[in-house]
Amino acid sequence: MPSFPFSEADPIQFPGPMPKSADVVIIGGGVIGVTTALYLADKGVSVTLVEKGRIAAEQSSRNWGWIRKQGRDADELPIVIEACRLWQELAAECGEDIGLNQTGVTYLANSDKDMTAFEAFLKIAALHGIDTHLVTAADTKTLIPGMARKFHGAMTTPSDMRAEPWVAVPALARLAVRKGAVIVENCAARSLDISAGKVSGVITEQGRIAASTVLIAGGAWSSLLLRKHGISIPQLSVRSTVAATEAMPEVHAGAAVDEHIAFRRRQDGGYTLAPGGGSSLYIGPDAFRHAIKYLPALFDNPFGLGYLPAAPSGYPDAWTTPRNWDADAQSPFERMRILNPAPSQKGLSSVKREFELLFPDLGPVRLKTTWAGMIDAMPDVVPVVDRAQTIDGLLIATGMSGHGFGIGPGIGRIVADLIQNNAAGHDLSRFRLSRFSDGSPIRLGPAL
Ligand SMILES: Cc1cc2nc3c(=O)[nH]c(=O)nc-3n(C[C@H](O)[C@H](O)[C@H](O)COP(=O)(O)OP(=O)(O)OC[C@H]3O[C@@H](n4cnc5c(N)ncnc54)[C@H](O)[C@@H]3O)c2cc1C
Repeated sequence: MPSFPFSEADPIQFPGPMPKSADVVIIGGGVIGVTTALYLADKGVSVTLVEKGRIAAEQSSRNWGWIRKQGRDADELPIVIEACRLWQELAAECGEDIGLNQTGVTYLANSDKDMTAFEAFLKIAALHGIDTHLVTAADTKTLIPGMARKFHGAMTTPSDMRAEPWVAVPALARLAVRKGAVIVENCAARSLDISAGKVSGVITEQGRIAASTVLIAGGAWSSLLLRKHGISIPQLSVRSTVAATEAMPEVHAGAAVDEHIAFRRRQDGGYTLAPGGGSSLYIGPDAFRHAIKYLPALFDNPFGLGYLPAAPSGYPDAWTTPRNWDADAQSPFERMRILNPAPSQKGLSSVKREFELLFPDLGPVRLKTTWAGMIDAMPDVVPVVDRAQTIDGLLIATGMSGHGFGIGPGIGRIVADLIQNNAAGHDLSRFRLSRFSDGSPIRLGPAL
């Protein structure tokens, strides 16, 4: 693993320089912004991406690295199927080893109720011809040998993949630059420049860049920037804790999860671990503002949430974070270049203990790195991918709700085509922004 998590002390890899104008400006250098830039540059579109901190330093490097079709929302599944193909193409094209491996994803069942719940996805999987299937209790032991707990069975998708996110997304950014994209790190977008209801550029801390099309792909920060321009999206972020073990013998090459633990084999011979249901929501103004829209999620609890009274200072939904600011002064975005939450100590000790209990033959588990990330979520656990109705030339791709890494290149390809006025290739109505204001009921997607 490189020095991880990424920090402001890391040297700038993408210095720009920022041009005076571009056809398209992308705000945010996570997997969504980077892959959109890549697919635009591939078509010869002049595109500049601005990133307030470092490429992939927030969610896009901190995630588990699962690229899964299994358990997806029915409307996301066609996009993630395309994304899996794109990941394979990009891994070959970028010329770097991003750790892409087809080692499968498995959901372990602790009860017959879990097995029944898995069956609902089998119907969706069958419609798309993917290889998801149920596994008996006996076969689960063979699939993942050495587990001390007895499971009622499992659901598995052998064609699902994994990659090393902290390697993959910077590698894709390098590929985007080779194709002609300009990427400027350490460059916060403070404000959109809007004339007569149309985007005319972006005001950044390095000056103004003229552009008639702007994409906001700012992860957990998107709603803060959009709100400044009168667009309200019910986005909240939840803290999720992760740990990386030292290298250990291989018990399973893929990824697996139950309600207590998630684990994935890493390319360096360790495992990436996360505690089951250990996410925390910091209560802030947006949590109150959007509470009603989150009621279905509260009952179903797809994020496995606990609650904390207030976010640390400088977080997107902290009580003291300004909701408006002058474009010629420092903005909240450059005040916090990298959102780097402290991991939950309780979550870390629980996940270490759970892994030791699950695989006693592996012996004591030594954690070499621990971190947390803020997952940007929407009330129905599916993203927003849409044009803004009130500002011409503005597009939004955000709220990936804890599964944006795997689907990332699919969304990037779609948004690049929307920007070029090409067909999206998929039905995007589920991901429209107006679903939160047009009276539609909240239709919950599957849990994270
Ligand atoms: C712990 C954890 C585990 C996860 N596991 C998985 C998984 O296994 N599989 C999976 O598919 N997904 C997973 N996810 C979710 C996935 O990581 C995210 O959905 C995805 O990375 C989101 O990408 P993004 O580009 O939308 O946002 P981000 O990666 O958060 O990037 C947004 C970027 O925008 C920048 N930015 C924001 N505002 C501005 C501004 N005004 N100016 C300039 N730059 C700005 C930020 O600095 C940031 O770098 C996980 C997430 C976490 C946190």
